[in-house]
Amino acid sequence: MSQSLPPLDDLVACHHCDTLHVAQDLPDRARAYCQRCGSVMMTTQSTAIARVLSLAITAFVLLIAAISFPFLALDAKGLHNTTSVIDAVLAFNEGYAFPLAVAVAFFIIIIPLTRLGALIYALGPLARDKPAHAGAKRAFGLAEQLRPWSMAEIFIVGVTVALIKVAGLAAVTIGPAFWAFAGVVIVTVLKDQMICRYSIWEALEQQPD
Ligand SMILES: [Zn+2]
Repeated sequence: MSQSLPPLDDLVACHHCDTLHVAQDLPDRARAYCQRCGSVMMTTQSTAIARVLSLAITAFVLLIAAISFPFLALDAKGLHNTTSVIDAVLAFNEGYAFPLAVAVAFFIIIIPLTRLGALIYALGPLARDKPAHAGAKRAFGLAEQLRPWSMAEIFIVGVTVALIKVAGLAAVTIGPAFWAFAGVVIVTVLKDQMICRYSIWEALEQQPD
């Protein structure tokens, strides 16, 4: 028995387990879940987009705070030193540590900020039911492509491990930026859980180019 497949444009893959489903128009305030793993696949548009947008703005503000406020203070043998992430990048800008400074600047500062900025640019008007900005599709595509390279979350895990080691050598005081980074991690996880790529692409597709 052969069964005819629905057109490719009507198929949507679960972003967790890749199971294919046939997309359907959802009634207001409805959600569609993956039949296999149960993760949310589709939600009705503007409220979901507004929620993702507000989380993206929150993450952006927290990330700015996380980069510029003091990250930690060290006290050892009468010496006191306070450092922010920007200070750390600038301190490494010479000699063989230079590639490290560039990597930190890219993965912790430039890429996460670009990604959040692109997301805010693409979703801002959609959340208010206004026509999208020019290039909104490209901006959302860019935000999606940068997702694996945005490593602010990995940074905080690495730093926490390092701090546990340093705490044996010097008195470590955690600065406000550390908590801001922790906030970025939580908000980013919530945002990535909530983001419904299908509805966002659908909303962007309906926009004139
Ligand atoms: Zn699934």
